[in-house]
Amino acid sequence: MPSNNFIIDAHEDLAWNMLTFGRDYSRPATETRRLEQDSEAPAHNGDTLLGWADYQAGQVAVVFSTLFASPKRGSPGTWDSQVYIDFDQAHRLYWNQVEQYHRFVDQYPDQFCLVERQADLQAVLSHWQAPLPPEEYPVEKKTGRPVGLVILMEGAEGVRTPSELDEWWEAGVRIIGPAWLGTRFCGGTREPGPMTGDGWALLEAMQAIGFTLDISHMDEKAALQALDGYAGRVIASHANAQALLKGIDNNRHLSNQVIEKLVARNGVMGIVPHNPFLQVGWKASDGKKAVSLESVAVHIDFVCQLAGDARHVGLGSDFDGGFGYPATPAEINTIADLQKLAPLLHHKGYTEADIAAIFGQNWLALLEQTLP
Ligand SMILES: [Zn+2]
Repeated sequence: MPSNNFIIDAHEDLAWNMLTFGRDYSRPATETRRLEQDSEAPAHNGDTLLGWADYQAGQVAVVFSTLFASPKRGSPGTWDSQVYIDFDQAHRLYWNQVEQYHRFVDQYPDQFCLVERQADLQAVLSHWQAPLPPEEYPVEKKTGRPVGLVILMEGAEGVRTPSELDEWWEAGVRIIGPAWLGTRFCGGTREPGPMTGDGWALLEAMQAIGFTLDISHMDEKAALQALDGYAGRVIASHANAQALLKGIDNNRHLSNQVIEKLVARNGVMGIVPHNPFLQVGWKASDGKKAVSLESVAVHIDFVCQLAGDARHVGLGSDFDGGFGYPATPAEINTIADLQKLAPLLHHKGYTEADIAAIFGQNWLALLEQTLP
């Protein structure tokens, strides 16, 4: 039986793509691919998986859209325009990305809107209460259901001092992940370490305002400390289960201990359908057919088994975040194909209510409990 549930995707680097490659997400993914054929974008970031028509077809109602720039030492190449060498520069880049989201929703008010408050969320969802089958939304269609964007700051080096957080909140940021690589706040991916004094000061200020903390990319040590010490809500917007990735050579995924603590803190974890995060050692030459969407269902099931229910896992695709559709499972052409997870989860014994929870309701509950 086909599922008919909307999706909330907890991680997409939309602003980074808009500013680095000029990607216009009001276009269908297929059109962006065609336009980029002779550009450098596919070589650097893969062919896009995203576009408004694809959100319609995949019933993607809300996206956590990031502010992301990398420090020079982590930059993928000179083509990347979103790179900083100091915190002032990081601040300018991150602030420009916030403004980019505001410009974007002003440009396409029927297609995208910012979700900063409960009223914004309810306004978006009012369009998605009775999802229509994908064939009702051909890619040529230019009006339809608006996609809500919740702004998530990934790697918080753009925050110069904790006293600045009020301004970021005012600008619409609702979720902050302190790490990407290690930052002055805590250890991060490939740069392990604990929370620092600056990190605790950031968390204290975040907590006072009501930000949700994203522990993705935090080193395990820092993540465990933050899970104990942060009284506000905690999520992992995009991470997979480390226990299923034996032999992976980095600290990017979540140990069972972190997942269990996250569950105990009523958190939600977004599973990433990216081949190297599903099959250790996968490389482009292995081809996309080497990984099946079933492996995403396996990670989802693993988290549910640890949690004892289906209330603490969702999707955090990270699509267009450094990879394109050739680095996603065989069944995925665009984000619309995430709906193909439904029969796989049914097959594992998940009920329609469980699948609705995993696709969108778990992230929705978090937004309903955390947005002002
Ligand atoms: Zn990331």
